[in-house]
Amino acid sequence: MTTTLESLEERARAHGKDFGADALIVCDSLVRIYQSEGVEVQALQGLDLLIERGDLVAVVGASGSGKSTLLSVLSGLDVPTAGRVRVGPWDLMSMTSRQRIEYRRTMVGFVWQQTARNLVPYLTSVENVMLPLALAGRPRRDRTRRSAELLDMLGVGYCADRRPGEMSGGEQQRVAIAVGLANDPQVLFADEPTGELDSATSDDVLECLRTSNRELGTTVVIVTHDLGVSEHVQRTVAIRDGRTSSEVVRRTDTHEDGSEHVVAEEFAVLDRAGRLQLPREYREALDLVGRVRLTLEESHVSVWPGRTAPKEQS
Ligand code: ADP
Ligand code: MG
Repeated sequence: MTTTLESLEERARAHGKDFGADALIVCDSLVRIYQSEGVEVQALQGLDLLIERGDLVAVVGASGSGKSTLLSVLSGLDVPTAGRVRVGPWDLMSMTSRQRIEYRRTMVGFVWQQTARNLVPYLTSVENVMLPLALAGRPRRDRTRRSAELLDMLGVGYCADRRPGEMSGGEQQRVAIAVGLANDPQVLFADEPTGELDSATSDDVLECLRTSNRELGTTVVIVTHDLGVSEHVQRTVAIRDGRTSSEVVRRTDTHEDGSEHVVAEEFAVLDRAGRLQLPREYREALDLVGRVRLTLEESHVSVWPGRTAPKEQS
């Protein structure tokens, strides 16, 4: 074997220093501890996540796994207890409250699960989209044009003069996406955007998020407990107990006959401290529990049950 311990350590150090240097969004060992009535809840337990510019990503996890906590942090509403978090040039750990407002107004947009939280009930769709443009000081003519364009792009141009109460849940969420995109943010965050919708309507809303990503180049991060969302995105990151555990990457392959098919490949995620979660099926199949043996091979690492020596098994 040519790999020496020194060269491995060197590589590990380089890896640590550059963690996420090129990424648009970097979460590095994020910890968020809530104290409520003397009880400590660790909502994020050393979460690592890198998102590249132009990505369309779903973060999927069971209820209580820390998804909303993560989005509160990324949207600048909450500050983590420890770790490092950067979005573009913004260091979210050390922003002043003034910078926080600026960040929320110019860098990021949001779509929340509760349709009521996204739209002002007494304003029409076009007025809802114009509101953030007005707050950003955009001239009136600009605002009208931009609102109409966004509503058209998302297929809800016909809802321009309707108030939220006059639209279906799916239409409201599509208008909410237009509101989130109004000021041309680099990143759009959506927390369970389809949580209150049936599956056909959910598909429409997810397609709109995809359109935003494709047409405007906006980086889109969707957080959800709905595994079906992964069919609409290139990359799905699973979080479990406040930590990223695995990833599914989808890509389209072209056959020799020219037909296209989607390949989904699942990866485990190695965290910054080198920790890895072995899937339950693997652990059960080989009865891996407690101590296991690791061996470094030329191109991979093997995991052996601790009770037998690797020699006996090969
Ligand atoms: P998800 O969105 O994946 O359902 P959350 O991020 O909302 O998960 O919550 C993660 C954990 O943190 C849960 O155990 C939840 O009860 C707890 N939690 C979330 N917000 C608070 C809070 N403000 N105070 C105390 N505990 C909280
Ligand atoms: Mg949530």
